[in-house]
Amino acid sequence: MIRALIARILPKKRVRKPRIYPADQHKIRAEQIDPAALSVICRLHDAGFQAFIVGGAVRDLLLARRPKDFDIATNATPEEVKPLFRRAFIIGRRFRLVHVHIGREVIEVSTFRTAQTDEEATDEHGRLLNDNVYGTQAEDALRRDFTVNALYYDPDSEEIWDYTGGVNDIHARQLKLIGAPTVRYREDPVRMLRAVRLSGKLDLTIAPTTEKPLTKLAGLMCHIPQARIFEETQKLLLSGSAQKNIVEVRRYRLLPAFDALLTDEKSERFAALALRHTDDRLRIGKTVSPAYLFGALLWPAVTRENEALVASGAKVMPALTQAAETVLETYAHQLAIPRRLQGMMREIWLLQPRFEQRFGQRPFRLLEQPRFRAAYDFMLMRGENEEVPKELGEWWTEFQSTDHEERKKLVAAIEKNSKGVARPRRRRKRTPRKNEEAAAS
Ligand code: ATP
Ligand code: MG
Repeated sequence: MIRALIARILPKKRVRKPRIYPADQHKIRAEQIDPAALSVICRLHDAGFQAFIVGGAVRDLLLARRPKDFDIATNATPEEVKPLFRRAFIIGRRFRLVHVHIGREVIEVSTFRTAQTDEEATDEHGRLLNDNVYGTQAEDALRRDFTVNALYYDPDSEEIWDYTGGVNDIHARQLKLIGAPTVRYREDPVRMLRAVRLSGKLDLTIAPTTEKPLTKLAGLMCHIPQARIFEETQKLLLSGSAQKNIVEVRRYRLLPAFDALLTDEKSERFAALALRHTDDRLRIGKTVSPAYLFGALLWPAVTRENEALVASGAKVMPALTQAAETVLETYAHQLAIPRRLQGMMREIWLLQPRFEQRFGQRPFRLLEQPRFRAAYDFMLMRGENEEVPKELGEWWTEFQSTDHEERKKLVAAIEKNSKGVARPRRRRKRTPRKNEEAAAS
């Protein structure tokens, strides 16, 4: 009775209408859309469904950037989408969507969803537990993170549908969360890292209301599953603006591991070098290995630990091995670094002392190590940071770029110059082999 009364007095839940930008009010043209994505949209339209390009691609095109991928949002359910295509697969358990394979491309098609925000759908920290409930397009827009990420482009009509003011925010170059920022960060704390990453990558300012709760809510990060932390940290570091991103992440204290790692000027300098190298390589289209980068971020901690062990009497190699283990145990977990990567980091670290052993067959053997290239780049960076003499880096650069005869000369020169320093070659007494004994008798 009371409920019925309230329902009559309160206005009905408003159905949110989009602001529609026709083709003459923006610059996105259908030709800019990936042909495979266009064909998927076309098929969905023919079958009577709505289908739009959504998210990062619309945002990037409005910002005159090349989109990484073209995702599609539709009102068709995965079961309705799948039979429309020859090669389509329903994937994901928590968030079911369809991967449509067209030639060598995979187009992601997701069904409009609504965010369930009532008490049963969130945990005690306000974190969303379920995102698999289908909804209207308006609800789909509101469950997205930032206004600039909630734009829908229809290549047929060349219209942009905007439910949250994303187009205006793109023009104002601001990154703004949809809804109440504190609630949205609590629902999914990864959005804090996304705020930093996307603002860095797209050169957008984080809106003041979106920025304000960041430091206060940084503690929520510890409730995020390890795999998601690693995935986002990797994106932060490998996005081409790693240097800038890490400064921001540290400003808001979002990943405390970085504060613990970069404690003094020396470690700061080394990290800055590694981040700059990474950004430079990405800018010119080269690849970067996450093992190399994480290896560099953790290296100052390894040397600190190593120096302490050597000071207390341990030998160089056992000390370094032990230091590597201790540092990985402490930080690999905090940064959620996968085991495979930890193995590669360990290899790069443990090869470092071997660059200083330039006599006999040793340099030749080091050159054959599968991890030589990464370890060599790493050693050059240590040279830049004045941890090893620059001359060492120059010698190795020459050594690896020349032929066998020249290499032997380079080693001989070192052996001659460092007489008494280089370890004399040990001649082991060899026990004669059986057939040799037989021949002798
Ligand atoms: P990038 O260019 O780095 O891929 P993106 O915005 O496309 O950026 P994706 O991770 O590919 O990022 O996500 C696709 C879309 O899904 C986003 O544009 C956004 O609309 C939505 N989205 C992604 N992560 C979240 C999140 N944590 N909360 C709400 N919506 C999200
Ligand atoms: Mg994307």
